[in-house]
Amino acid sequence: MKVLVGVKRVVDYNVKIRVNSDQTAVETANVKMSMNPFDEIAVEEGIRLKEAGIAEELIAVSVGPKQSQETIRTALAMGADRGILVETDIPTEPLAVAKCLKALIEKESPDLVILGKQAIDDDSNQTGQMLAALMGWSQGTFASKLELGDGRIKVTREIDGGLETVDLKMPTIVTTDLRLNEPRYASLPNIMKAKKKPIDVLTPEGLGVDVSPRLSVLKVVEPAKRQAGVMVENVAQLVDKLRNEAKVI
Ligand code: AMP
Repeated sequence: MKVLVGVKRVVDYNVKIRVNSDQTAVETANVKMSMNPFDEIAVEEGIRLKEAGIAEELIAVSVGPKQSQETIRTALAMGADRGILVETDIPTEPLAVAKCLKALIEKESPDLVILGKQAIDDDSNQTGQMLAALMGWSQGTFASKLELGDGRIKVTREIDGGLETVDLKMPTIVTTDLRLNEPRYASLPNIMKAKKKPIDVLTPEGLGVDVSPRLSVLKVVEPAKRQAGVMVENVAQLVDKLRNEAKVI
């Protein structure tokens, strides 16, 4: 079985996000970039399927600028077998990425595609769903557990107020939630070995995909500053403030 995972290069989750001076986007110049955390979970799940003897090959794909090769290298150092970069300097939108992934699925014929539930930069939560629609494949989103059977997959999904298990026909698209697994760190020997693993560099045009933006961002602003809190003396005062100041009870 072949598994394809999406790995997006995003601003590192530890970085304090700043809006750029013309309020059109988040500042990315001189900012630490890393693999989207949900994609680390996707890579980890793919590696575990390999270790369990269920998957034979794990391919890490990124759509983005040249530097996304570093993100692919991280996936290779964790344990992916090879990488594919679809290189573009145009900021990627979920539909464009889904179309690139569709073109790669047609080339590579994976049985399972694992993406993150969302990229922490745009928080779109769209790419997996759009890809499933474009392919006409089943989808198991917000996955916290996968059980592979014969040509089928049981996906436990994190939903409001509990868990839902769906039984899907493969090939399928899975998107990862936080509790699916805890991604491993790449060891130094594996980082060295990853340098020799192949990364194919393709272009959206080469795949016949138009990635020009369909959306325009009107304005990006910082959230309003939170006001300082106050210490209350006792429960009665807390209830009074909740009732008469905050008016929430
Ligand atoms: P989004 O729909 O933008 O929130 O992204 C959901 C998931 O789609 C991410 O966690 C990635 O697995 C995948 N994805 C989105 N954009 C890219 C990209 N440019 N390159 C590779 N994978 C991506």
